[in-house]
Amino acid sequence: MEQPSIPAWEPVPGLYIVATPIGNLGDITLRALSVLGGAALIACEDTRVTGKLLKYFGIKARLQRLDDHAPPEVRARIIDEARHTAVALVSDAGTPLISDPGYRLVREAKAAGVTVTSIPGACAAVSALAIAGLPSDRFLFAGFLPVKDKARREVLEGVAEVSATLVFYETAPRLERSLLAIADLWPTREVAVAREITKLHEECRSGTAASLAAHYAAHPPKGEIVLLIGPPAQEEAPVLDTDALLRAALADAGPGKAAGVVAKATGIDRAVLYARALELKGE
Ligand code: SAM
Repeated sequence: MEQPSIPAWEPVPGLYIVATPIGNLGDITLRALSVLGGAALIACEDTRVTGKLLKYFGIKARLQRLDDHAPPEVRARIIDEARHTAVALVSDAGTPLISDPGYRLVREAKAAGVTVTSIPGACAAVSALAIAGLPSDRFLFAGFLPVKDKARREVLEGVAEVSATLVFYETAPRLERSLLAIADLWPTREVAVAREITKLHEECRSGTAASLAAHYAAHPPKGEIVLLIGPPAQEEAPVLDTDALLRAALADAGPGKAAGVVAKATGIDRAVLYARALELKGE
């Protein structure tokens, strides 16, 4: 296959939020290369890490370090430059702002009337969700789990009722303890560990938290990790109070109509609801 050429780009002033690969350099996008090649300035977390990436792609650029501890003047200078030239923001890997610096810069740039443009690409949370085999219609990304046992438990308890797949970033040395904490709270929920995504030793292992904890106790994990927890099972979800729904419907209608309304709203069989509506009416 012929190598696609990098699209030419006439730099337009503004701030460009550029995703970079999370392991496999082949995941850089053509737009990312165009923008990084054309930007007058690239703000980055670590100039050595970004310097290596740019060198690999033969891009020479002026770099400015910008992390979460950068003073407001640094952001103000970057924003000022973005009024007149194209300025890119990258993080060490993946999508900036996703458990990475950039939130303040983007917010302040928008407030200053600077155009902010997304140059999308790799993101470990989304990539993990795509391979975990857990429900992907609703998910909650909640960043890194806290290191301390009590704080971690509090965070987990805080999302216990969320009816969505939970996605956390995790580190190899902490994985087993986190899995044990999850096993303690939710012994039956399906859990997945996505490790080293896009790299040589990529794997995605699923099971209960206890079985995964046992596996990783025997095979200490290395590398970067996303931890996913499937949603609570249907039976764990709050039980629908059909009596309350029927009583409310019976206030304005007879048993037949009330059963029809509740059947439509809940998907429960109308005949079952009608029988119950008659009982409630007779009470
Ligand atoms: N902004 C990045 C993104 O878009 O994914 C995430 C940055 S955050 C500081 C780094 C964390 O992302 C790692 O500790 C790990 O939990 C996760 N991560 C990054 N690359 C990964 C990979 N290749 N495989 C699995 N997890 C990864």
